[in-house]
Amino acid sequence: MHEAIHGYIDYFRATLSQSEFQIKFPLFAPGGILDAEHETMANNYINNLRAVIEGQNDSIADFMVDLMAWSGLQETAAYGAWRNSMPYGLSSEDIQASMNTFLHAASDNCGNGLPDGDSLGDFNFEPCN
Ligand SMILES: [Zn+2]
Repeated sequence: MHEAIHGYIDYFRATLSQSEFQIKFPLFAPGGILDAEHETMANNYINNLRAVIEGQNDSIADFMVDLMAWSGLQETAAYGAWRNSMPYGLSSEDIQASMNTFLHAASDNCGNGLPDGDSLGDFNFEPCN
């Protein structure tokens, strides 16, 4: 869904005139386009992203749903606010370490697959060789 939102915006960027695009999406033009799209997703669509993930597998742990929904949005102010709100009673450092491990596992799973995310211990960082 994250990439679909980029695609939706890019479709209008490609098909509208520049002035029409700026009226419809004033945040995204000109410059800083990816960052602006990510801030918009983080501010307005995080619950939609969560719902899509939960719709794929309703037994997935809430913490894993959050990590998946926020992945790609870690540079946004909203992610920082969520992390610093200490969800699940975890410190912001533990949240960040878990996100880093999730991203690492998702991009290079070392043959280990994704952790199921039902306990913080699943996120103990094991570097790939
Ligand atoms: Zn993105």
